[in-house]
Amino acid sequence: MNYTRSSALFTQAEQVIPGGVNSPVRAFKAVGGTPIFIKEAKGAYLIDEDHNQYIDYINSWGPMILGHAFKPVVDAVVEKTKKGTSFGTPTEIETQIAELAISMVPHIDMIRFVNSGTEACMSAVRLARGFTGKDKIVKFAGCYHGHSDSFLIQAGSGAVTFGSPNSPGVTQGTAKDTLLARYNSIEHVEQIIASNKNEIACIIIEPVAGNMGCIPPLKGFLNQLRDLCDANNILLIFDEVMTGFRLAKGGAQELYNIKADIVCFGKVIGGGLPVGAFAANKDIMSYLAPLGPVYQAGTLSGNPLAMAAGLAMLQELNKDTKIYKRLEEKTEFLHNGIAKVLNEMNIMHTINRVGSMISVHFSEDDVVDFESATKGNNETFKKFFHGLLNEGVYIAPSAFETWFVSDALTYQDLDHTIKAVKKVASTL
Ligand SMILES: *Cc1c(COP(=O)(O)O)cnc(C)c1O
Repeated sequence: MNYTRSSALFTQAEQVIPGGVNSPVRAFKAVGGTPIFIKEAKGAYLIDEDHNQYIDYINSWGPMILGHAFKPVVDAVVEKTKKGTSFGTPTEIETQIAELAISMVPHIDMIRFVNSGTEACMSAVRLARGFTGKDKIVKFAGCYHGHSDSFLIQAGSGAVTFGSPNSPGVTQGTAKDTLLARYNSIEHVEQIIASNKNEIACIIIEPVAGNMGCIPPLKGFLNQLRDLCDANNILLIFDEVMTGFRLAKGGAQELYNIKADIVCFGKVIGGGLPVGAFAANKDIMSYLAPLGPVYQAGTLSGNPLAMAAGLAMLQELNKDTKIYKRLEEKTEFLHNGIAKVLNEMNIMHTINRVGSMISVHFSEDDVVDFESATKGNNETFKKFFHGLLNEGVYIAPSAFETWFVSDALTYQDLDHTIKAVKKVASTL
């Protein structure tokens, strides 16, 4: 493939934007090479500035569950735009999307809209702290909850109690309130709770982890977390920024039949515009300003364009009763196809999948937590990524990302993808 114009644009961007990108993973650092500049997208396909076309498995990192430039969403945004893009006053459409979201998601009575998943998670944690009057939070190694200070904490050694920051600029003071647990290890969470009695406000988790590749919760793990939270007066926060409206109408809460106390949304809920949200029962949400003492605000929160895109997206997902089954079937087809090829070629791998989230780990062992996720062979992944790209298949440029299957993908696209994997596998 020819990348002349992408390369030129990247060189130009690097002069004025740090690393040439506005979000680090786009820079291809984990896989090498030069990022591709996309000009436009339609349905399942991306078209770059050199007119190369790709089958897209990134889908803007999750939002485009129905494919790119989905007509009802585009139409809704275009119509709204003509009437003004932001007023900083309440608008009717905010209530409409709130009502719809609440009707689709179990266990929530009220929802507050923000502009990103990061904002949703950081606000949810502030609310949990305000509501419980406690300071500490538990997060899981390898789970991503956006880039706010409290979440940029990496594991220390063994039985971690206090995390240390893994980005300069995050203070020790902040880091000491974030306790780090191993994903899928209820024993580790129990230990942490036991050594921080009555100090933990909340446990925040990706109910299906998607930011260390796709890692499903082990059977019973989320239930056990729920029980531990109840027994210790700790709020359970499901970060459903990735899983919300993707795994089911009601997200992971519905899929696993587990109640979270606070739920965070992003990605799909904005239909491709910058939207996040957090939601809970009335009791908890009443702690938020202006009803309650916990402050949270946003100049562009709930702006009409974002709400129009989100509402059109949710309406579509709500009325299409077969959508989640269809997505799962497509993903299963992809899974089986790729597994067959890699098995035939004797390439060590583990494929994890839940609903329309799937990832291929080049590792023999089960991938159940951050540690096992990091054991994958990154050199193999790099070759795999570039090989697929060359065959017109665009997966995320990092072994620690989930592939997203959109409904715009046809079985022909999936077949093409499996054939591409076969071709590439012979070079690994
Ligand atoms: C993407 C993501 C976030 C952050 O959302 P942004 O909109 O990028 O700020 C938070 N949590 C999870 C689980 C995510 O996948």
